[in-house]
Amino acid sequence: MRAKLVAGNWKMHGSLPENATLLNAVRAGTVGLRGVQVALCVPFPYLFQAQQALAGSHVAWGAQNVSQHIKGAYTGEVSAAMLRDFGCTYVLVGHSERRTLFGEDDGLVAAKFAAALKADLTPVLCVGETLQQREADATQSVVRAQLTAVIEACGVAALGRGAVAYEPVWAIGTGRTATPEQAQAVHAFLRGCIAGRDPLLAQQVRILYGGSVKAANAEDLFAMPDIDGSLVGGAALVSEEFVAICRSAERTTG
Ligand code: PEP
Repeated sequence: MRAKLVAGNWKMHGSLPENATLLNAVRAGTVGLRGVQVALCVPFPYLFQAQQALAGSHVAWGAQNVSQHIKGAYTGEVSAAMLRDFGCTYVLVGHSERRTLFGEDDGLVAAKFAAALKADLTPVLCVGETLQQREADATQSVVRAQLTAVIEACGVAALGRGAVAYEPVWAIGTGRTATPEQAQAVHAFLRGCIAGRDPLLAQQVRILYGGSVKAANAEDLFAMPDIDGSLVGGAALVSEEFVAICRSAERTTG
């Protein structure tokens, strides 16, 4: 049985006072939550604040990016060990905004996944197709290539120490969610790709869905057999929405 994971991605949003309210509300709202892991991936400068606010609670925290390098003359970069210093558990790698806006390719994403594992972080590998790729019937080949890059660089067993997030680019921040059936089909495909190399591991790897998840659609998505939680962007900035998504995950946990 895979425990569901609901992870918020704050992107480049927040301020000290706004965060204090949001962190406290998520902390309070998830008290007593059973069978669901919860995390907030916050901007780097707010990691210390997240650590202070969430330590000892049900809510883990993490970052949205990490350097592929261990240390050195890499101005502006943040290493995996630095994230550990601030108590991070999770880090996103290969979010579509990093891939499209900052030119991160599959090789770089795989190197970041490896760097995160080396520091005992749990990397969440984001994969997903653009609308154009979906319309060209290329969804499977795109997500398979994104997943395979990490498997080939790190070994298939490495996926068991991280998680995968299927995030169709056309659904991110657009209000246009994949239907539960559309998402399930890609999740099952991804799990099948892993099973082709290690059937036992494939049953253990968590595959989250991301793309305009909100309280109103979370439960139907979570009811799908291969959807093990979600990566939540916009709705993670509204505590009531985020907590309601976590509660939906709890209700759909067997
Ligand atoms: C995301 O940024 O990973 C995301 C899924 O965003 P949203 O929920 O806003 O679509």
